[in-house]
Amino acid sequence: MAATLAAQCSIPEEAKMHDFPALMLDEADGKVTASIRRLTESDLPEGEVLVKVEYSTLNYKDGMILNGLGRLVRKYPHVPGVDFAGTVETSASPEFKPGDKVILTGWRVGETHWGGYGAKARVKAEWLVPLPHGLSTRQAMAVGTAGFTAMLAVMALEDHGLRTSDEGEVLVTGAAGGLGSIAVLLLSKLGYRVAASTGRDSLGDYLRSLGATSIIDRAEVGLAPAKPLLSERWAAAVDSVGGATLANTVASLRMRGAVASCGNAGGIEFNLTVLPFLLRGACILGIDSVMAPKPQRLIAWKRLAELLPLDKLDSLTTEIRLVDLPEAAAKILKGDIKGRVVVDPN
Ligand code: NDP
Repeated sequence: MAATLAAQCSIPEEAKMHDFPALMLDEADGKVTASIRRLTESDLPEGEVLVKVEYSTLNYKDGMILNGLGRLVRKYPHVPGVDFAGTVETSASPEFKPGDKVILTGWRVGETHWGGYGAKARVKAEWLVPLPHGLSTRQAMAVGTAGFTAMLAVMALEDHGLRTSDEGEVLVTGAAGGLGSIAVLLLSKLGYRVAASTGRDSLGDYLRSLGATSIIDRAEVGLAPAKPLLSERWAAAVDSVGGATLANTVASLRMRGAVASCGNAGGIEFNLTVLPFLLRGACILGIDSVMAPKPQRLIAWKRLAELLPLDKLDSLTTEIRLVDLPEAAAKILKGDIKGRVVVDPN
């Protein structure tokens, strides 16, 4: 399975005709480096379905993987890319046939299994979902793992009982990032009043264009709460920041409010007392997109296709190529990416 340059030299001439580009990571002396290689289908890992990848994306986790952080990848050489969308080329599963348009997010693809930063990928059939009606593969990847997670967060808040008639705004933290931008768009489309918290002053107009009703300075919600309970403010929240921001958000929830905890762009630890839970019935809803069960995935993608205004989705999307990934990966870790980045691996 390992696709070293030496292995590529030994492949038959005919197979070389069908080679394709991929971004590969190597590790030496604890340092991870990226390069673009030509692979063949025989280099790809096992799986029932071979997919011609049309688009992948850049998520925060991809940024970590490309920089060798978090020990998310244990085996090199490795093709990263935690999500992709494309067309089935061959399938050993009755569930998919050649020509079907499919999406993959999660299942630790791009971490323990080669991912979407190559023009082809081979994966298990059970990891794929059909492209929902109404979305192109590029639009599906403009959503990608980050946007899919935002939808799961909104669904969790709805299941918890959030209604548009509730008092108070719904807070979105890390709002100008990928998950945050799609969360703002979805919540606004559903009729909620959305407070978008950002550290980037200059992106207020951008967030308003996605439907934010107010813009909150990141510093305002990013301080560890000075008291167990702060003034009741948010009907609910979608949090991509974690750390003190999550603690502050929980302490500021209105009665019976909930925060969907999605991310850790600002830290993994937080200090809270139990009082928001005991006195206000506050809830933290954990959102895991990676191992989300298939029925939930199908519902989430159907709703994304129904809800997302495609002109606005396009307006928050930038497109890059494999060669641009190392630079973009460094930027996402610094919180410098606006909205979503799709990757054309071809
Ligand atoms: P992005 O980098 O696109 O968005 C993160 C945003 O958080 C930034 O744009 C910035 O927003 C804000 N931010 C960054 N650094 C800090 C900081 N130090 N303190 C406060 N705010 C900060 O990443 P994604 O949208 O792809 O992912 C967001 C988070 O969600 C990540 O932690 C990621 O790992 C997690 N995630 C979790 C998933 C799950 O299944 N639970 C799936 C997908 C993502 P602004 O400039 O507006 O302040």
